[in-house]
Amino acid sequence: MPGIFPCSKIYINLRAIYVPYSLFNYYQTLVMETYATALLYAIPFFVGLVLFEVLYGHFVKNQKHNVMDTVSSLSSGLTNIVKDSLGLVVIIVSYPFLLKHLALVEIKATWLVWVIAFVVIDFAGYWNHRLSHHVNLFWNQHVIHHSSEEFNLACALRQSISNLLGYFSLLLIPAALLGVPHEVIAILAPIHLFAQFWYHTQHIGKMGWLEYVIVTPSQHRVHHAINPEYIDKNLGQILCIWDRMFGTFQEELEDVPPQYGVLKPAHTWNPILINFQHIWRLIKDAWRTRSYWDKLRIWFMPTGWRPDDVKNKYPITTIQDVYHFKKYKTSASKALKGYSIFQLLANTALMMFMFYNYSEIGFEGLLFYGAFVFVGIYGYTTLMDRDTYAVWIELFRGIAALALIVLSRDWFGLNTYFPWGSYLVSLYFSITIFGAIYFTYLEKEDASIEMIS
Ligand SMILES: [Zn+2]
Ligand SMILES: [Zn+2]
Repeated sequence: MPGIFPCSKIYINLRAIYVPYSLFNYYQTLVMETYATALLYAIPFFVGLVLFEVLYGHFVKNQKHNVMDTVSSLSSGLTNIVKDSLGLVVIIVSYPFLLKHLALVEIKATWLVWVIAFVVIDFAGYWNHRLSHHVNLFWNQHVIHHSSEEFNLACALRQSISNLLGYFSLLLIPAALLGVPHEVIAILAPIHLFAQFWYHTQHIGKMGWLEYVIVTPSQHRVHHAINPEYIDKNLGQILCIWDRMFGTFQEELEDVPPQYGVLKPAHTWNPILINFQHIWRLIKDAWRTRSYWDKLRIWFMPTGWRPDDVKNKYPITTIQDVYHFKKYKTSASKALKGYSIFQLLANTALMMFMFYNYSEIGFEGLLFYGAFVFVGIYGYTTLMDRDTYAVWIELFRGIAALALIVLSRDWFGLNTYFPWGSYLVSLYFSITIFGAIYFTYLEKEDASIEMIS
């Protein structure tokens, strides 16, 4: 069906994945063929727009970014990409399976199919989002997206790594019944996701009649706000009609300025930790409560619900006055801010090489490589938190990488592209070791002097 979509190359490639090796391989290939391909175009675009927003904020003297938070947001995006490209997810049921067993009609991929598919994906997205906000277990995989206490384009890139069960296809049953081809879903899904990026900004006001059709920045500011008037509202992803239909719509009010974050603040710049904070609290509560019924039901109760006995014995403070809570801040000198940006860029570069050299590295190599990037993000964001144990993570990572380079005389095949590649990577890991020691032991005392808001 050439011509139904400009990316006909992607379409043809997708035909190949119908060979059902195993669900895992299947998903792996799918990810690389569509999501990753789309990401390669999307990443520079997203980063460019984040930079534009930073510059815009600077020139109009209304900066909505702060270095540590933005580095944390972008690092979260990085963890998500690495996790997704490794395919670390268990697919409970796949869309092709549903399509095969449920399709009532077979419709050819005409423009109408694309429209139907888009509406069905958006409808499924609304309910998935609503589920994430309202059920304890599911909130864990979404809390990262809300964990920033700022609201800007970088927040959009705070995406989950704790969504380990692939159940989204179940929400696509309407599409399967209508016989929407899998290719259409596979191509639209990332586009639908990326189209949720732009509205994470405070620089765009209300948008007239569009407020009645699509999710706008104004509506999404309400969604990220913890004001009692706003919380858990505007769950739509592209179309706002679902919120209006199902009673979750809330307009941004002039006299209620949105306050951003989550009621149980993350208190860390480390995106990997944020991904598991909520489930860790649930595990502790389930373990500690005496009631077996509560141990069982805590996972499926409304977000924030806790058994009575542990609630009294182990109280957790939540934000009561949304206008006067203290935002998370660590002592950050200009040097540490610069170093955090450098680490973010370096780890992004490492990840990009993993992408380009994906098939040569091989699956086991990829897991190993992915672990380097993960531990890297864990290490430098812990350093940003000013936690002393960061130095041990960074030393371990640096020394392990240097040892690997010495033993293999290469960095995962980098030298074939660039003869001095592994020397450059060695230099980076040496800087990592010295950076960790410097910011943990040498700079720490006078860091507070240069503390900026
Ligand atoms: Zn949400
Ligand atoms: Zn959002």
